[in-house]
Amino acid sequence: METQITREVAPSVWHGWGDPGHARPLGTSALAFLKSGLGVPDVEPRHGPVGLDQVQLSPSTLTESGPGAEALAALRRACGAEHVSTERMARILHAGGKSTPDLLRRRGGDALDAPDAVVFPDGDEEVRAVLAACAQHRLAVTPFGGGTSVVGGVEPHREGFTGTVTLDLGRMDRLLSLDPVSRTATFEAGIRGPALEAALAQHGFTLGHLPQSHQQATLGGYLATRSAGQASTGYGRSDELVSSVHLETPAGPWDAGRDAPGTAAGPDLLHLAVGSEGVLGVITSATMRIAPVAEHHAHGAWSFPSFAAGVEALRLLRHEGHPGDLPQVCRLSDADETFSTLRQGGWKTSALASYLRTRGQQTPALALFVWEGSAEDTRRSRRRSTRILQSAGGVPVGPLPAKAWEHGRFSGPYLRDELLTRGIYVETLETATTWARMDQTYRQVREAIHGAVRDGGGTPFVLTHVSHVYPDGASLYFTTLAGLEQDPLAQNARIKAAASRAIMDAGATITHHHAIGRDHAPYLQEEIGALGIQVLRSVKDTLDPVGIMNPGALIPAPSANANANANVHTTEDNA
Ligand SMILES: Cc1cc2nc3c(=O)[nH]c(=O)nc-3n(C[C@H](O)[C@H](O)[C@H](O)COP(=O)(O)OP(=O)(O)OC[C@H]3O[C@@H](n4cnc5c(N)ncnc54)[C@H](O)[C@@H]3O)c2cc1C
Repeated sequence: METQITREVAPSVWHGWGDPGHARPLGTSALAFLKSGLGVPDVEPRHGPVGLDQVQLSPSTLTESGPGAEALAALRRACGAEHVSTERMARILHAGGKSTPDLLRRRGGDALDAPDAVVFPDGDEEVRAVLAACAQHRLAVTPFGGGTSVVGGVEPHREGFTGTVTLDLGRMDRLLSLDPVSRTATFEAGIRGPALEAALAQHGFTLGHLPQSHQQATLGGYLATRSAGQASTGYGRSDELVSSVHLETPAGPWDAGRDAPGTAAGPDLLHLAVGSEGVLGVITSATMRIAPVAEHHAHGAWSFPSFAAGVEALRLLRHEGHPGDLPQVCRLSDADETFSTLRQGGWKTSALASYLRTRGQQTPALALFVWEGSAEDTRRSRRRSTRILQSAGGVPVGPLPAKAWEHGRFSGPYLRDELLTRGIYVETLETATTWARMDQTYRQVREAIHGAVRDGGGTPFVLTHVSHVYPDGASLYFTTLAGLEQDPLAQNARIKAAASRAIMDAGATITHHHAIGRDHAPYLQEEIGALGIQVLRSVKDTLDPVGIMNPGALIPAPSANANANANVHTTEDNA
């Protein structure tokens, strides 16, 4: 079966998120509250993006009359001239991802890193031909799915190359096959979240993978970054849902993984390809485990006297609850995020706050849950979970907060564009750690962010939540709001460095789901060891001998290692 899906692509604005037509403006009182809390002067917006005509690009090295003419002709032969673009808009749209520093740069008119050309191959053979042309002409290749990376994953890297090419998988967006008996489906890698779900829904199935970037992100991007969705506590992360992938590498095609439920055939090479962030090759298709669409969603919200009490409740739910009762969505906000959520959601904050005070909760931490399944199963799961949550100090506050969250869950990213325009810095970062280290990690990272903002003369709001629950621990996700400083890129770098250091010092992971990209690469050695980096480099040398695949991402440049492990003997670097 081969089904052509009409691609449901919301036009992505070059300086922000998604389709600005879908943005909902921040309420006046919420904005006033933020500005006064953060000490941002109450003046008219002054940080808007420059006009498109003011955006600066380096001249493309791939022109018909310049030294790159042969390379351009080779790319055109590989996937058709109409699918190779050196146009200004295509280059700007592929200049980087969607992190706050990415947006700050583009809003300020800097697209100097834009690729020299963007290619849109269709099918394995065309991808293979593009890679061959790039290897022959020494062009760096950046695989590009939805371009929603927030860790510098899709920034072209020019140094040491004759030019840069971004390989956009947008034309490869088909459902290739579906096996309803085994509950697996094979897709091309460029399919975006909504189109993937729509294709499965026609057959009564879902992948259940809904990252907040779902509308823009692609299956290949999910797998290349090991993404986690909002319902991953129930359905599993993308790296748990995948059963096999096909890669086109400069060394040739590679099928990683076998469509078998389990295998003992040596080390797990599938998971070398998954999470490889475009540095080993291009994921062109993948087989995923799917589930029947749930007939019913049951919602619940509980408030806890503190974040620590809420974390303990989630741990008990995981450790002492019936495994089948675990909600698909499991989110716990700390007191600051709870306050912000209730305020933004237009909840009767004061009424709820005074009710919770009467129940002994001065700084409530709100937990939201969604159970999916049959009406009877979800009712039973909620009832049994209620016992555990109440025994851990939870006060039920009805289903509405969880329903409101579910309703508005994809609109949050639009707010960042408005906040930046209004002079408010906002960025997120994440980690995961064990239950035993949760509280200490939470406190250390928060304190580091507060300290870094204070060093610039500001006072931040730091909002935190847990959104993925595992047997041995959970994720932690931090959102920082502060007044934009004179040099917002320096401000961002200072906050990010402080938080990353605190994460590493707390023994947590540098990333739970955003991946490594270029931003986290200096910390990878501290996480996986010098020998681990060497293993990655030698795999890269095998699959990408010329080193054209996404250089600078994932595998750190030797000088970028935050902490070299002196006990490991490293060979001469050849990455
Ligand atoms: C507003 C917002 C919300 C987000 N929410 C979440 C979330 O809830 N959970 C989460 O996990 N992440 C989230 N992210 C991060 C990001 O969306 C994910 O990392 C996502 O998986 C990236 O998918 P993409 O298709 O956009 O990949 P891209 O950004 O295009 O690429 C990401 C990396 O993967 C590589 N790559 C992409 N496609 C391929 C391919 N086919 N083959 C080989 N390499 C490839 C790229 O070279 C790059 O290194 C969010 C980002 C934003 C901006």
